Amino acid sequence: MRAEIIAVGTELLTPSRLDTNSLFITRRFNESGIRVMRKFVVGDRGEEIRRTLGTALHDSEVVILTGGLGPTHDDITREVVAEALGLQLELDPTLVSGLKARFQRAGFKITENNFRQAMVPEGAEPIENPNGSAPGLFLREGKALLFLLPGPPRELEPMMDQVMELVGKHKQITQAFQRRLKVASQAESVVDSAIGPIYTSYPQIETTILSSPGIIELFLYWVGEADQGLAESQLEELQSRLVEKLGESLFTDQEESLEEVVGGILRKSGKSVATAESCTGGLMGKILTDVPGSSDYFRGGVVCYSNNLKVDLVGVDREVLERFGAVSESVARQMACGIRERTGADFGLSVTGIAGPEGGSPEKPVGLVFIGFSDDQETKVRKERFPGTREAIRMRACRHALDWLRRALLKSPNWLTS
Ligand code: ATP
Ligand code: MG
Repeated sequence: MRAEIIAVGTELLTPSRLDTNSLFITRRFNESGIRVMRKFVVGDRGEEIRRTLGTALHDSEVVILTGGLGPTHDDITREVVAEALGLQLELDPTLVSGLKARFQRAGFKITENNFRQAMVPEGAEPIENPNGSAPGLFLREGKALLFLLPGPPRELEPMMDQVMELVGKHKQITQAFQRRLKVASQAESVVDSAIGPIYTSYPQIETTILSSPGIIELFLYWVGEADQGLAESQLEELQSRLVEKLGESLFTDQEESLEEVVGGILRKSGKSVATAESCTGGLMGKILTDVPGSSDYFRGGVVCYSNNLKVDLVGVDREVLERFGAVSESVARQMACGIRERTGADFGLSVTGIAGPEGGSPEKPVGLVFIGFSDDQETKVRKERFPGTREAIRMRACRHALDWLRRALLKSPNWLTS
């Protein structure tokens, strides 16, 4: 099924605001086999809204307009849509009493312009907005279903449940004909050349590769005929061929992050980790603690940016620092080992490198990163050369370290049986 999204709001055409609602909507749609074929961003201008709405309703079966449902005079979506479809706006008494009650509860005086939000085009069905005063609206126009939703994401997002329910009531929606696979510590070009020959032999599945520093996501999306059995068997077949090809670089086929996966394995194995970070400035600790409940396995970490702190906090030898420099294999080794010993964690991870954009030299170029890994058996160091901006280099370094830990945990024979 084909869908379109129109984001309305003059602020979305400025350099400081981005339409993110459509991303959320798209995710929900994709889960139900609905494809977003086109998106528009238009200002709060009647003519623009009318024109895009006309095209969208002509071409698609589901159209969502977001924004411009508020009480102020620049919020014109409701009026423009009613006029474009030749519908009268009527005051909805239930919405009026709802608005009054809402304002009373909040202790605000209701003003005349607020009643605009209780105006409903004839035949339209209001959609409850638990987090705001502007209800959404649902209309049928020819073969198309049209939804009007408020702009603020915290209002719109919970309302998508009702939207999906209404779509399901009026159209045949299927379950998700999609899969996702996430890969760590591999370059996009390497992954694509490995799996390209496989996925290109499935013309009814659209495979997209989305890369972010240190992580590659593969989306498999069924674009063939609406045959549930065929879609599922083809997706299953392609997925298992890709899983086999990708081997242990594949870390999940679910919607979960690398740090969640690593955290899950640590928790299950009853192991803990601590970090000593230089060029990443605490990013690895941040990422690890982004996961709720990470105190179960993350002991903590130090940001030892200066040489003195490398000596004082994790026990790096001053002599080693002077001889090899802070960005060196020996220092990464001592950092990883030092943080593990000083915290009593099962694993120590360390990062020291040159994130740039300045500070590189021919011997130690920007992007050079040493990653240390320490457990009670040994301490190892990898020398990496990461591409990209300062931000990307730092993220790659963290993810690389976490992925190293993940792979080590999967190889460790002790915990799987416990
Ligand atoms: P309100 O009653 O809050 O005015 P509204 O439906 O009129 O609701 P807008 O005035 O269009 O919504 O937008 C309110 C705010 O919501 C905007 O300032 C913007 O921050 C956010 N917003 C609007 N549209 C989007 C969008 N497509 N993506 C992300 N944020 C958005
Ligand atoms: Mg508004």
